[in-house]
Amino acid sequence: MSVLEIKNLHVNVETDQGTREILRGVDLVINEGEIHAIMGPNGSGKSTLAYTIAGHPKYQVVEGEILLDGENVLEMSVDARARAGLFLAMQYPVEIPGVTVTNFLRTAKTAIDGEAPSIRGWIKDVRESMSNLKMDSAFAERNVNEGFSGGEKKRNEILQLELLKPKFAVLDETDSGLDVDALKIVSEGVNRAHAKTGLGILLITHYTRILRYIEPDFVHVFVAGKIAEQGGAELADRLEEEGYDRYQVAESAAE
Ligand code: ADP
Ligand code: MG
Ligand code: MG
Repeated sequence: MSVLEIKNLHVNVETDQGTREILRGVDLVINEGEIHAIMGPNGSGKSTLAYTIAGHPKYQVVEGEILLDGENVLEMSVDARARAGLFLAMQYPVEIPGVTVTNFLRTAKTAIDGEAPSIRGWIKDVRESMSNLKMDSAFAERNVNEGFSGGEKKRNEILQLELLKPKFAVLDETDSGLDVDALKIVSEGVNRAHAKTGLGILLITHYTRILRYIEPDFVHVFVAGKIAEQGGAELADRLEEEGYDRYQVAESAAE
């Protein structure tokens, strides 16, 4: 049974104006096969949490821990985190000029597994996943994220998720910029990975829309760098009706 634990996480970022504390004591435990949604207003630190889990050098952990099956994630390089089974789909995925989708996937798979996948099985898996995600086969020969539409970028991330088979995936606003059809296709991909491999998921979103397609076991409301409230799927319904105002009022009253 795999578990990803985030304990009392405090994270700073260096800005032109000096050091800013963004995460202020985040506690979160995600067990294998659980789907956790993090919802919160813009600027509350959701992407910072995602980047910190992934190991982005800009974000400095000043206190707290991240453990994957008891191993200290914060001591691992970005590559080691991927090999240990962590996957991050960025809110703003980067272009990789000169590297095709096919080559990227194969290189990543080889690096993560420690050996190259057998060619025949691999080609079949890639074709099957692309077809599930309703991606044109010509897509495989394009350079990663170069000129991709918003929807293509997100599908490409879910393609990686399906093929790389991580233990835990952090999906940062995978729903942003998707029309309803693309949202369904992407959500089905996430649900397939969850059902097939017992993937644990941290689904970061500003809107409740995606939660109609991916049903969370837990919902956490993120405000001003920490979790302000947690509950089950019903909490998302309440947020849809009431928005985040209530939390922000409470926040300013406390200051
Ligand atoms: P969210 O994803 O919830 O919208 P972010 O984690 O992107 O929030 O940002 C939280 C806060 O941290 C914002 O005020 C943002 O401006 C600031 N921040 C995040 N990353 C950086 C950075 N690299 N440099 C400066 N400020 C940053
Ligand atoms: Mg489940
Ligand atoms: Mg964000």
